[in-house]
Amino acid sequence: MSVLEKLSSAEAIALEDKFGAHNYHPLPVVLSKGEGVYVWDVEGKKYFDFLSAYSAVNQGHCHPKIVGAMIEQAQTLTLTSRAFYNDKLGVYEKYVTEYFGFDKVLPMNTGAEAVETAVKICRKWAYEKKGIAEKQAQIIVCENNFHGRTTTIISFSNDENARKNFGPYTEGFIRIPYDDIQALENALASSPNIAGFLVEPIQGEAGVYVPSEGYLAQAKALCEKYNVLFIADEVQTGIARTGKLLAVHHENVQPDVLILGKAISGGVYPVSAVLANDAIMNVIKPGQHGSTFGGNPIAAAVAMAALDVVKDEQLADNADRLGQIFRAELTAYIQNSTVATLVRGKGLLNAVVINDTEESDTAWNICMKLAENGLLAKPTHGNIIRFAPPLVMNEEQLRACVAIIITTLKEFEK
Ligand SMILES: *Cc1c(COP(=O)(O)O)cnc(C)c1O
Repeated sequence: MSVLEKLSSAEAIALEDKFGAHNYHPLPVVLSKGEGVYVWDVEGKKYFDFLSAYSAVNQGHCHPKIVGAMIEQAQTLTLTSRAFYNDKLGVYEKYVTEYFGFDKVLPMNTGAEAVETAVKICRKWAYEKKGIAEKQAQIIVCENNFHGRTTTIISFSNDENARKNFGPYTEGFIRIPYDDIQALENALASSPNIAGFLVEPIQGEAGVYVPSEGYLAQAKALCEKYNVLFIADEVQTGIARTGKLLAVHHENVQPDVLILGKAISGGVYPVSAVLANDAIMNVIKPGQHGSTFGGNPIAAAVAMAALDVVKDEQLADNADRLGQIFRAELTAYIQNSTVATLVRGKGLLNAVVINDTEESDTAWNICMKLAENGLLAKPTHGNIIRFAPPLVMNEEQLRACVAIIITTLKEFEK
């Protein structure tokens, strides 16, 4: 078979099954085209995308401005490594630091790499600025966190599926319950060796857990009190997804260290970033950290275009407005539902909790039916369905999607 021949869905699935590692369990839908809030499968069926590649495609599929920036840069200069300067990186660094209000940025490629980078910066800061004794630094993390898939990151996960048989694990992490300010204060007070508090402003992968109002602001204040870095992982919640540019902005918090990924490129290219002020970022000296592709000219051009789109098209305001409609409509439906028990979220990062166990296949079957009805979403943790469409959606489209979701849920009512 020629690689240029058009595949059927069954053929494409068979190829992945035979030749790809089985590290994912996708819905049996094979996509070949995307535009805005829509994707099409190889048979030409059109769907609303309600996952947005885990919130990477906030700006919509194949946004012409972002793709245009990529094509132009790809035809000019793609990669120089950081052994030399390039004419795009500095321009991007100025742009992104002013955009988010930090002195400096350290560019990487994936979310997990950016988290690793933040952990390294935090530890180095702890030894060189805070004065913690060598190898003693501890970073506080939360139960049910998701920060990526590297060996260090899974070391502080409590998801057995993500951890088991990947040890030995990296030391230096203390895990506390999420959304529990007293637990944070206890952990901070427990030792002089605490360097940082790494937190998701909303726990996305865990099932879109929104912390109590005031939690993030109080956590930031406690970190200041104990001279500990407040590190926000906004890889999923950032870049307008929750109705503000950053989810921490709902509580007027400016993190000490900000981790971004996913939508910083609009899903066009792997781009991630760690932002911090000089007092923290300057602990990193030449040769101490890096990445061959980090800060390459395509990434720089793509990220600037993607961040421009977020402001030009007022995606944060749109996410805020449409999110309120989404939760109001589904909350109203759920009052009399036996199959769905709860809708929660912020902006256009929402989840519906299905009235069954984590081990059940009800949520999976609902997602299969949603796909049949023209809307793609995926369960997380068995019984929770995350709904996160591109933020370029309009109200008419959102209402059409709510209708599809309700029609589908009705098919499962007892
Ligand atoms: C997706 C995600 C990551 C990891 O990003 P990758 O690009 O998949 O490595 C880290 N943190 C959060 C909160 C995420 O949602």
